[in-house]
Order: sequence, then C-alpha cells, then structure tokens
Amino acid sequence: MKIDKIHQLFLQCHSACTDTRTIVKNAMFFALKGPNFNGNAYAESAIKNGAAYAIIDDKTYNTSPQTILVKDVLETLQALATFHRTYLNIPIIALTGSNGKTTTKELINAVLSRKYNTSATLGNLNNHIGVPLTLLSMDKNTEIGIVEMGANHLKEIAFLCTIAKPDYGYITNFGKAHLEGFGSVEGVILGKSEMYSHLIKNNKTIFINANDSIQIKRTIKANTFSFGNTHSSSNIKIDFISALPYVKCLYNNKEIHSQLIGDYNFNNIAAAIAIGNYFKVDDTSIKTAIENYTPTNNRSQIILKGTNQIILDAYNANPTSMQAALLNLEKQSGSKTAILGDMFELGAGAATEHQRIIDLATSLNIDRLIFIGENFNRSKIDSKKAMKFKSFIDFKKYFDPSLMNDTTFLVKGSRGMALERIIALFNVA
Ligand code: ATP
Ligand code: MG
Repeated sequence: MKIDKIHQLFLQCHSACTDTRTIVKNAMFFALKGPNFNGNAYAESAIKNGAAYAIIDDKTYNTSPQTILVKDVLETLQALATFHRTYLNIPIIALTGSNGKTTTKELINAVLSRKYNTSATLGNLNNHIGVPLTLLSMDKNTEIGIVEMGANHLKEIAFLCTIAKPDYGYITNFGKAHLEGFGSVEGVILGKSEMYSHLIKNNKTIFINANDSIQIKRTIKANTFSFGNTHSSSNIKIDFISALPYVKCLYNNKEIHSQLIGDYNFNNIAAAIAIGNYFKVDDTSIKTAIENYTPTNNRSQIILKGTNQIILDAYNANPTSMQAALLNLEKQSGSKTAILGDMFELGAGAATEHQRIIDLATSLNIDRLIFIGENFNRSKIDSKKAMKFKSFIDFKKYFDPSLMNDTTFLVKGSRGMALERIIALFNVA
C-alpha cells in the first residue's frame, strides 16, 4: 500500500502505537521487530485490544482485513511520519545536544504552551522510532511542534532531520557523551552539527547561545537568533544571578526564580526564554512558565530525607554532566557527599574518563566520595575521603544513612546503574 493511502487511514485513527500494552482504541499499531521480539506476533492482539489497523511485514500474520502488509514496518513508520510532517505544515523546533535536551525541551514547551497549542516529544522518545512517533502524535490543532533528537553515532541527526524537517533548531551543548559511537568530542561536534547543516541548507533559523564559542563558530553562515549576557553579542540579554540553591536569572528587568539546580541549567532556561521571546510570548508568561517547572524522572530532583538533602540526578551520566554536577555539589554549603555510579558508552576511553572524574572529585571541596560500579572499581583511588564498590549490592551492605545527618548528597550515574535505588535505603533509615 502506498504511503499516502496509509496516511489517509492514519488520519482516521487516533494515534500511532508500537506496544500492545499501551494500545488505545482506534490506534494504528506498528509491528516493529527487535533483537528479542517480533511485533508481527502481536498484531492480532493489538487488533483485539482495539487497534484499527496493524502494520506488519511478515505475511504469515496477515490474517485480518485490518492488517496491512508492508515491506518493512520501521521504514513505513518513518515514511508515514515524514509524510505527516509535511501534511501538518507547522513550525517544528528541533533540539539536540549531549546534555539537557529533555530539560530544555520541557522548558520550551512550558513557555510556548502559554500562548500556543504545542506538542512535544513525550519523555525521552528521541530516536529513529521516537521521533516518528512524536511527529505522529501531532495533529492539525498543533500550532508548534518541539522535537527532541538523540544520537549515539554520526548521520543519525541528519536522518532524523529528513523526517522532522525542522524550521528551527537548538543544540544544548557539545560534550563527552556517547563517545563509543562518536569516537571523540570532535565526532560529537560533527554529529550534532548535522542539525546545523540541515537548517543552513534549508535557510532556516538556529537558536544559539552566544557564550558558546562552538555554537558561534559552526553557525557563521546561518540565520541565527542568539541569547547571551551582552546586548552587543546577542539578540537578547539574559543574566545569570545565582544557582544557590536554585538557578535565578534576570531577563528584561524581571528576576526569574527557577526550581532547577546547577549552573548548567542556566543555559537550558536561557534557551527557553530566548525561544519564548522569539515567538512573542509575553515576559510575565515566560517568567511564570519557568518558575512553575519542576523536573521529573530523577533529573536533578531535590529530595529531602530528615536533615539530609539529596540531589537525585540518577537519570543518566556522562563525563560532561558528571563534572557539572560535581562542581555544583561543591558549591553547596554544609557537609557534602557524592555517590557516583559508572558512566556507560564511553568505549575505549572508559578507563581514562572514570579516572578523570575520580581525580576531579577528590580535588574538590566535597567531604565524602563513594564510587560504585566495575569501571570505578578498576580505577585508582588515593584519597581518605573516598570509597569504591564493585556493585550496588556491595555498596548497599555498607551504606547506613541513619549515621548521616545534615548532609547534601549528589546521586548520579548512568541509567543502567539505576542509582535511584538509594532513595529506598534512606526510607529504611
Ligand atoms: P538523554 O541523552 O538521556 O536524552 P538529555 O540530553 O535529554 O539526556 P536531560 O535528561 O535534560 O538530558 O538531563 C540529564 C542530565 O544532564 C541532568 O540531570 C544534568 O545532570 C545534566 N545536564 C542537563 N543540562 C545540562 C547542560 N546544559 N550541560 C551539562 N549537563 C547538563
Ligand atoms: Mg533526553
């Protein structure tokens, strides 16, 4: 079946879905295949659970008038999203970067939704499946779309841009993340800059942080709208006031008091203010939107347990965000403990990067350091204030939060380390 025909059927459905457990009535189900599953086998149950159609690519499952057999389900999902994006004909803002994409996306969405009917990536659905699903979640009522794009290798962002065809783009930063696939920070810069190339080629607009020299250098030939701390170098001026305990900034004579911690969140907030300004959201609405936003999902959340304060940043970690989080912890007052878990996907650089974090952490004004994971455990630690554990289970045997009071904890590690499990240990105390 041709893609325009599938699109006509899709418009009669309420949504696109790839998981029978979350299927909603009248959805179009895409029977994707993975290393451990074959979605085709679920087509029948998807229809039983209310799906209007199931897109499949294995003819043995073509058993119902509601199944649509195609050559490749993933390619069809991507082609349908591309077709739908053109049909929508709305401004799309794309976001990528090594750190802070989801936070910035949510802040931008909070700001723009004060004036527009927006639709943004749900959670972290930012890859070759998530981006198509995000686009398919938008409809003719959507006035602005905000799409997060993630990548762990070259050409990925270029590919996602051919699907989402963004009119605007913002790269949060170029850091040490997914080095396994990108090879080096230069690889990260090249990979993320694929978004700039797409926007420049199509004469679109790039939002830039005028204080970031890489962003400036890579957008010399582009239409840009910039934010920074001076009027002379940027379109709008946003000043950093403080990050203690939460990020505060000044924009158009208004102080904005966010509920986000860490200097690094200043750039994320500033980007959202700048984009709000560009789309003519009034200053009071921008301020209210930023001030009301609270992070979720273990991203720089503050949790109070008795007299202890936990900065729960266990959602993910890489060398850049680990460094930013440690520098932020150092600035806190009182007793400080960092509990850090391994950083994944660092390829051949894993040993060096873990050692660097240990060396940085031990040099900072932090009272106690706990390193968990096989990589940290293999590293050299030469400091009385530090301990290392091979696994979370080993750490758990040792850790007794009832002995700790009036302390600020930073809890951070890669997703696979699931360090949010530490919160339950505090509950027992
Ligand atoms: P993912 O690659 O998993 O999608 P992401 O880029 O969407 O991550 P967020 O989920 O917004 O990033 O933030 C994850 C963590 O990255 C935060 O909790 C914080 O530790 C760190 N972080 C956020 N913004 C920045 C930034 N601008 N610079 C450095 N680190 C940041
Ligand atoms: Mg994300």
